[in-house]
Amino acid sequence: MSTIRLLGSITFACCSAAFTTLLYNYFHQEETEVLFFYGTMPICNFHRNLASNTTTIQNNECFECKLNKIIGWLNKTKKTLDICMYMFSHELLANAVIAAHKRGVIVRIIVNEDNLQTTWKMGNMGILKRFNKGIHNENLMHHKFIIVDNKKVISGSQNWTKTSVRANWENSFITNNCELVNPFRNEFQRLWKVFN
Ligand SMILES: [Zn+2]
Repeated sequence: MSTIRLLGSITFACCSAAFTTLLYNYFHQEETEVLFFYGTMPICNFHRNLASNTTTIQNNECFECKLNKIIGWLNKTKKTLDICMYMFSHELLANAVIAAHKRGVIVRIIVNEDNLQTTWKMGNMGILKRFNKGIHNENLMHHKFIIVDNKKVISGSQNWTKTSVRANWENSFITNNCELVNPFRNEFQRLWKVFN
């Protein structure tokens, strides 16, 4: 290949890569948010149900408000909800998942074997569920991530239990960055097959 041709190819490759990135950034609105949970306190005045309370607790520190945010993300699900959760017994989060299932969202749940019985009401709902059985239950299925519509991931330290939401220091984040979402999608697919 002549030098001019080679330089031409390199320039084309660089330009097309830059163009692809430009297109991606133009059409893709980045959505990221990180939530920290601080234990039982603080809780905002709204959730404390004391309108006259004069303390200066901010809504952005209230665990109930943050829980509502996660439920809000679930309520926006349109097509698929893949849940990989070590412990899943929180009633309000379960209700949001059941509501998604009822409006036609395909819900798949992976839990750890010893938490199978406590997974809220899912058994009789027709929701697809798998767990680390057989040779695989020697190790904990300790993940805590959810994939919404194959486009967003909610992940962090938090199990979907009351204790995790109310009484622990925890973190939970959401992202629609495909470089982060795709590995989670691949891992969910892999586990879904392995735990069949
Ligand atoms: Zn609140």
